[in-house]
Amino acid sequence: MNTRKPFFFDSTLRDGNQALKKPWNLKEKEFIFDLLLKLGVQAVEVGFPGSCDMDFETCQKLASLANDKTVVCGLARAVERDINLAYDAIKNAKKPRIHTFIALAPFNMKYVLQKEPDDVKKLAIDAVKHAKSLIGENGDVQFSVEHFGDCIDNMPFVIDTLKEVVEAGATTINLPNTVERTNPMNFVKRVSQVVQELPENIIIAVHCHNDLGMATATTVESYFAGATQLEGCLNGLGERAGNMNIYEVAVALHNCGVDVPLNLKEIYETALTIAEKSGVPIYEKAPLIGLDSLAHRSGIHQDGAIKTKDMEKGAYRPIHPSLIGRDDEKVGFTSQSGKTAIYEIIKTAGYPITMEEAIRITPAIKEAAEKVGELPTRYITDIYFKEVFKIKGPFELIKFSKITDGKFRVEFKHNNKKYNVVGEDNGPLSACLNALSKAGFPQKLIHYEQVAIDGEIKGVSADAMTGLKREVPTGHVVTCRGLHTSTAQANILALFNGLNLIEGLK
Ligand SMILES: [Zn+2]
Repeated sequence: MNTRKPFFFDSTLRDGNQALKKPWNLKEKEFIFDLLLKLGVQAVEVGFPGSCDMDFETCQKLASLANDKTVVCGLARAVERDINLAYDAIKNAKKPRIHTFIALAPFNMKYVLQKEPDDVKKLAIDAVKHAKSLIGENGDVQFSVEHFGDCIDNMPFVIDTLKEVVEAGATTINLPNTVERTNPMNFVKRVSQVVQELPENIIIAVHCHNDLGMATATTVESYFAGATQLEGCLNGLGERAGNMNIYEVAVALHNCGVDVPLNLKEIYETALTIAEKSGVPIYEKAPLIGLDSLAHRSGIHQDGAIKTKDMEKGAYRPIHPSLIGRDDEKVGFTSQSGKTAIYEIIKTAGYPITMEEAIRITPAIKEAAEKVGELPTRYITDIYFKEVFKIKGPFELIKFSKITDGKFRVEFKHNNKKYNVVGEDNGPLSACLNALSKAGFPQKLIHYEQVAIDGEIKGVSADAMTGLKREVPTGHVVTCRGLHTSTAQANILALFNGLNLIEGLK
């Protein structure tokens, strides 16, 4: 088992911010900085101080707010002016870092930098030397091989340059997949090569963009190949399709048994806040944080998810939602759903139901879902009330009334034939059973249960919901319910619902 702790380097305030349609101001950056400290990332890249005065001042301010655990990093091109500004901006942090970079990929050196490789190498070494001369003993220097992902054909040159950059004073070497162009394995193999070639005390970092949607995979596998510092952004913000999404890598490593030094429970709230502050919405199928990413709609999935909902692993989901501070795992009912979903939805809505009842009302709810699509909970509970509390059949209660203590009158119809029978027994329920028996409809009560209801149900104030389990001569046992403001009337309504129900089973 891998016991190396990952080191999360967040670039939301630099790489994420630079790609926003409306970059954050100082006040907004302070707010996000706070979120990052709460989430517990180990390093925050606060900005690119050389880019403009506002960024310089923001970096200066955030550096002064940092605690003594968190590395505060400023980005600088491999030029003296940028490095000086980066240093000035972050020097008051408890743990300052200058992060300088240059491209070593053949394509970029030739067409973008328009320089010979040896000249580029010299710029890299000089930049690191200069940064190291400024940073002091509490700080350190990070060097990034911009476009490392494209350094497929010149790895000996890259490794040679990195060895000299390390000699010059860089202690973290970052290998960015600046543009994700090919397969993760191609990148990860070269990360592994750098890990083996550089001294053991050098921290290897990866910085993966998500152009082909594989930044999480590439980062996770790079970690197992020896990269310790993992760079990304909250909500996967960043240029084009964004950066590696820190939540996904954190959870993936957690699931692999790695000790992840982040407050994972902060993830969901952080994600919602970042979406609001950045103006970049979370798409509903986004892994872990998408609104719909914990919904189950097919009957098979619902059945598995419900049976295992209190387990940490659980069927048909990557994590228990509480791991990332969510409590909204959802069972949505469509025509693809099944009885377990109905059972769960009614119970979650606060109403009593048995699995036998769920099976019974499933066809009516499925029929509605075929027409409407996913049914809102209220729609489902409406059908539940209709199918459970107003069961149609040959029996119809007209009136139930007390004559004297121990004597009750039951007026009802059976197939339109009227009955008016007096039943005798101590309580109203047993007196009604007696009356039904006299009229030729004997019933046996197995179990009786009173459910107290607070407030309103279906717009009627109700204080009694009766559940009866009954056996009839045909051998059937059913659960039937009645709803009324009077307990006695609720019991009698339950009995009559049961009579119709049993009639339907014959
Ligand atoms: Zn980047």
